[in-house]
Amino acid sequence: MDEEDSGQDYIFKIVLIGDSAVGKSNLLARFVRNEFHPNSMSTIGVEFQTQTINVNGKEVKAQVWDTAGQERFRAVTSAYYRGAVGALVVYDVSRRHTFDRIGRWLEELQTHSDMHVVTVLVGNKSDLRDAREVSTDEGRALAEAHGMFFVETSALDSSNVKPAFETLVREIYSILR
Ligand code: GDP
Ligand code: MG
Repeated sequence: MDEEDSGQDYIFKIVLIGDSAVGKSNLLARFVRNEFHPNSMSTIGVEFQTQTINVNGKEVKAQVWDTAGQERFRAVTSAYYRGAVGALVVYDVSRRHTFDRIGRWLEELQTHSDMHVVTVLVGNKSDLRDAREVSTDEGRALAEAHGMFFVETSALDSSNVKPAFETLVREIYSILR
């Protein structure tokens, strides 16, 4: 088994979903390039970015898809979801309405995806302590209710960004390998 396995490439398609301005693009920029953009990024036209993660000695490629702002117009297409095996469903802990819309994003994911999708609920902008509108307990409870992993992140100060992606990739790997 080991011999057959060696040299095999794993590529997991992961989609970022959630309301506009919750920090999806910055989570990806932090994860892949260790960058943060204080002003909302304009469309860069890149469909996805790839980051290699080592899982149990295997090279696993996370191919992470980011919307080019289509979520503003509720125009995320089924092509975006097609073939996805993982999703980061993101809200902004400082804007409750982005948390209230998580259910709708999960429905959209379920409608469009063609396979079982491992999902992590991500409460981003944990650095905005004074502006917080959604507690950690609420986030955790919602994640539990839907069988999702849960993490609070800050793309600004980097906290938990890597673990968010790595938890997802490890879980997909353990299910699909
Ligand atoms: P997207 O529309 O979901 O892709 O969100 P963006 O990544 O474009 O971020 C929207 C805005 O929120 C930008 O002004 C970012 O600088 C800001 N932002 C993103 N992540 C964080 C974070 O973790 N903390 C704070 N304070 N601001 C963030
Ligand atoms: Mg974006």
